[in-house]
Order: sequence, then C-alpha cells, then structure tokens
Amino acid sequence: MVFAVQCPEPKCRKYMLVEEEDRGTIVLCLVCKTPIRVGEPEPSETSRPIPGRRS
Ligand SMILES: [Zn+2]
Repeated sequence: MVFAVQCPEPKCRKYMLVEEEDRGTIVLCLVCKTPIRVGEPEPSETSRPIPGRRS
C-alpha cells in the first residue's frame, strides 16, 4: 500500500507517494532533494479532527 507524504520545504510542498514499508525512513524529495521523514500518513483535510465546536 502506498500513501502520500508532503515535502516540508515551503517553496516546494510537493506530494510524493511512498510505500508502506518506507515508514520510519527518510526519503528525498524528488523535486528539491529535501529529506522527508516518512511517518504516519498525513491526515487529509477531511479526516483531520475538528476542534470541538458547540453549535
Ligand atoms: Zn520538495
């Protein structure tokens, strides 16, 4: 299974697909070569918990 990681470089912010087995390793951004630590899949906008809001 693959999932996306986002380049932390503000000027790049490229999404790249990494393999599940790459979790816990460092990959280089294909565009700017910034090292990206592969952790848990980035929460998408829709799955991000929304802070409790009362009506
Ligand atoms: Zn990049």
